[in-house]
Amino acid sequence: MSETIYQNYIDNAFVDSDTLIEVRNPATGVLLARTPDASNEQVDHAIAAARKAQKSWAAKPAIERAGYLRRIAEKVRANASRLAQVITREGGKVPALAEVEVNFTADYLDYMAEWARRLEGEVLTSDRAGEHIFLLRKPLGVVAGILPWNFPFFLIARKMAPALLTGNTIVIKPSEETPINCFEFAKLVAEVDLPTGVFNVVGGTGAGAGSALTSHAGVDLISFTGSVGTGSRIMAAAAPHITKLNLELGGKAPAIVLADADLDLAVNAIKASRVINTGQVCNCAERVYVERKVADQFIDKIASAMAATRYGDPSAQADLDMGPLINQAGLDKVAQMVRTAVGQGAQVITGGNVADLGQGFHYQPTVLAGCASDMEIMRKEIFGPVLPIQIVDNLDEAIARANDSEYGLTSSIYTRNLSAALKASRELDFGETYINRENFEAMQGFHAGTRKSGIGGADGKHGLYEYTHTHVIYAQE
Ligand code: NAD
Repeated sequence: MSETIYQNYIDNAFVDSDTLIEVRNPATGVLLARTPDASNEQVDHAIAAARKAQKSWAAKPAIERAGYLRRIAEKVRANASRLAQVITREGGKVPALAEVEVNFTADYLDYMAEWARRLEGEVLTSDRAGEHIFLLRKPLGVVAGILPWNFPFFLIARKMAPALLTGNTIVIKPSEETPINCFEFAKLVAEVDLPTGVFNVVGGTGAGAGSALTSHAGVDLISFTGSVGTGSRIMAAAAPHITKLNLELGGKAPAIVLADADLDLAVNAIKASRVINTGQVCNCAERVYVERKVADQFIDKIASAMAATRYGDPSAQADLDMGPLINQAGLDKVAQMVRTAVGQGAQVITGGNVADLGQGFHYQPTVLAGCASDMEIMRKEIFGPVLPIQIVDNLDEAIARANDSEYGLTSSIYTRNLSAALKASRELDFGETYINRENFEAMQGFHAGTRKSGIGGADGKHGLYEYTHTHVIYAQE
């Protein structure tokens, strides 16, 4: 794969960019490929192609549109191990997780295809005699899908599958950190002969192609997954055209561990949630509130579990639990947050430092005890393998502290007490709550956050309908 040059995919053609972005393996620094940095004209071209294709695409029966998604899913499965290697090399993801991501992506395409025979409108009761009221669901038009680097391959499907199934066309911009997998996906799409202009990929930076897409008058929905700061900038860019937004932003998921919890279950799930993708997951446990009675026991167990984490270069070694952070800025941020927490009185139980493996952006799996709600480490997204823990006296305190956050994506609770779990479900102000299990959503659910974690959501029926608008017809006999 070294020194490969990728091209944009616009109007069913592979198109060179004059400028290119180097993509390197975060575990080794090795140059993997150069990828296109699309010009404003190329972004215009992609949006125009998507616009031109949209009406005839929407006019096809949904089952026909679904057929394309199923064929792409087959291509993804047939190329699964190669695609997983691409994801590992450019993003530092361990092979087992990269394979899960690829297979989940194929399943997701198939799942959205299943909705073809279930796209439903409504017939409403009228106040007038002889009047019929029909509520139709229609596509929005052209979707701009802007992707992050942490689940780069799956996020293509999470945006394109509901968009295409409901009759929209799409222009995708992958993250400049991990664009290769998206251009590899475009090659597979090219093999299924989708009608011209339905699916387009432009490469580039946030300030370049990202900003050109989000400020464009020709886009009907911006479907964005990424950080809160970028989400806010995108809202401002969308404002002049009142472009619709679907924003999946950051998280600071609380995990509540009550005294009656199965502690081994809680430790395994919270550790998995903190180590998966090197802690770079929007919905994974980022802060723990543990009841005082079991705090010492929990801290001992989770520290041993975290210390046993196997980490290194996943492109050289398959049996690892985690790889490097995505880049130097990510590593510096994690290191700075831990230093600040320690300066404010947090105690390092295990880890606490950059891991010197000779190369790559590695950080030691870390547990911090003695944390307090006003510390930055309990309030801001860490996005690394660091678990800060705060002791609480009871469930009410845990819920209050969990809710006291600018984020509201996911939350979890570990308890054997049904009433406590139900009370937490009612009072936790989050988009998702996981009870006695690790944080990992299902494709038939609805992944959405409260507060700064976003606007709208993804997955399932509710996520599908985010890509439609409602048209009501009043017909008098
Ligand atoms: P990011 O915000 O830095 O970048 C995401 C994308 O936005 C990239 O493609 C980038 O090029 C583009 N971008 C940057 N500036 C832009 C601008 N001004 N206009 C248009 N596009 C712009 O995020 P990231 O670092 O790639 O991803 C990590 C973040 O994503 C974390 O905060 C994480 O919580 C969040 N995330 C959320 C979910 C979710 O479902 N809620 C899922 C995955 C990741």
